[in-house]
Amino acid sequence: MPGTFSHQFDTPSYKGTITVPTGLFIGGAFVDGSSNTTIDVLNPATGKLLTKISEATPQDVDIAVKAAQDAFDTTWGLNASGAKRGELLYKLAAVMDAARDELSALEALDNGKTFGWAKNVDVDFSVAVVKYYAGWADKITGQTLETDERKLVYTRHEPIGVVGQIIPWNFPCKCCISVQCIRAHIMRSADVCVENCSCFGHREHHRLEGFSIIVYLSTKSLTHHKPSEFTPLSALRMCAMIQEAGFPPGVVNVITGYGNTVGAAISSHMDIMKVAFTGSTIVGRKIMEAAAKSNLKPVTLELGGKSPNIIFNDADIDNAIEWTAHGIYWNHGAACCAGSRIFVQSGIYDKFLEKFTERSKSIRIGDPFGQDIDQGPMSSEAQFNRIMGYIESGKAEGATVHLGGDRFGTEGYYINPTIFTNTTPDMKIVKEEIFGPVGVIIKFEDEDDVVRQANNTLYGLAAGVFSQDIDRAIRTAHRVQAGTIWVNCFHNFGPNIPFGGYRQSGIGREMGEYALHHYTNVKAVHVNIGHRLA
Ligand code: NAD
Repeated sequence: MPGTFSHQFDTPSYKGTITVPTGLFIGGAFVDGSSNTTIDVLNPATGKLLTKISEATPQDVDIAVKAAQDAFDTTWGLNASGAKRGELLYKLAAVMDAARDELSALEALDNGKTFGWAKNVDVDFSVAVVKYYAGWADKITGQTLETDERKLVYTRHEPIGVVGQIIPWNFPCKCCISVQCIRAHIMRSADVCVENCSCFGHREHHRLEGFSIIVYLSTKSLTHHKPSEFTPLSALRMCAMIQEAGFPPGVVNVITGYGNTVGAAISSHMDIMKVAFTGSTIVGRKIMEAAAKSNLKPVTLELGGKSPNIIFNDADIDNAIEWTAHGIYWNHGAACCAGSRIFVQSGIYDKFLEKFTERSKSIRIGDPFGQDIDQGPMSSEAQFNRIMGYIESGKAEGATVHLGGDRFGTEGYYINPTIFTNTTPDMKIVKEEIFGPVGVIIKFEDEDDVVRQANNTLYGLAAGVFSQDIDRAIRTAHRVQAGTIWVNCFHNFGPNIPFGGYRQSGIGREMGEYALHHYTNVKAVHVNIGHRLA
């Protein structure tokens, strides 16, 4: 029998006891993994053990794929209309909404992000995404295509099949259940409703087909001998919510395990028809390779970034300071689109640096459940060491530590907001994703200069542009090569707005209507109307 983890919270932000199952969620029930081995989950605020969760194996992947395929072939495949799927998603949104504090508390406990941010961004956004896609569930249609009077051609957007989702630890709830899986849920329906097709002779609904998924929860590192870097709690809690909302067994399966075993088994599985991956560029490459070598399954990749944030002389400086701080310090810097390269035009450079330094000093660091806390600990010891390693490399390569550069306190994995100046383009801290509260501030002279520097990266996930000159702002927004450009703001998302990267920041788009296309196969049906060859 799989165990449970029960935690009593008595904090300024949240009081109460939360219980989370710690097994694998397969076929609508929590089960033990086939190996009976476990993985430690640590509290990043203290470094102490919170609980142990099941460690899945490739054999468990097979079992979960079978459960998903069974659901696809039966309950989900035959008996759930678009309206029904939408209804289930609305129910799930309501269940999540009611448990907003609980989910936020689990995120803060497990990941180290502050309770307030978890609630106001992660969970809030997740609920909004579920609702958004609930609305889509019965509105995905193919097309009727013009040919000539002797032929009818229509397209069906058929669900792609069982999907594997491999996700990271930095937004466990937001990345996992809401953003990716829910979109998958709605893609179940064949999209041509023949009843609505005025030129089609017989009136019969096409069989509705199903779509099931496996979610694989993240381990942060493959190479670590002590796997302390899981953030599985909110997603495991979500499984119970999926049960409560009434989804048929097997439609969602959640398994926890390591990347080089379970993640690799998902990417190379012959019966998984698509993989959606969010994580690092290096692992994204491995996943694409495994997909290519197995059944050529399509992959969507949401990968890393080193986003430029450009502040022109004519920006509203106080507004720019606030958004820039949000851009680099939100989620303790563990955001794929973090504005980590801060380009400031020479005319305001000194003033900006002075004001931004003051703003950075005002970031309140502490226990993620403390009130008025802006930044909690890094999510794990490994992540803490990685960030400190980057800070050391910046120093060794000759950059100036203008602010911070050290740990905060003596317990847990806290790092002070850190600003580097006097950098050069070849430094690691300028080129590589740090994934912590560490920004580099770079002076630039003019538009051409900053566009060239901003685009001098392997990535292309996001960028910010601050200017009160609308021509300049839009011109720059169009010249910078990235999937998202924020003008006079940063980290500003919407469930209906596509998100994804250029270059090595990824392939495909999450969210909005754009994301739906990754989950269907388009079938063209040619119907001959009385034309004989003889
Ligand atoms: P990671 O790439 O190390 O791990 C991500 C997931 O892949 C984990 O579940 C891991 O267990 C799994 N994995 C590892 N090796 C694997 C393999 N060989 N085969 C299959 N799966 C494997 O990333 P992380 O450290 O968990 O997360 C941080 C990274 O995620 C950052 O680079 C960040 O930019 C990126 N990220 C991107 C987005 C986005 O939307 N673009 C969002 C969040 C995070």
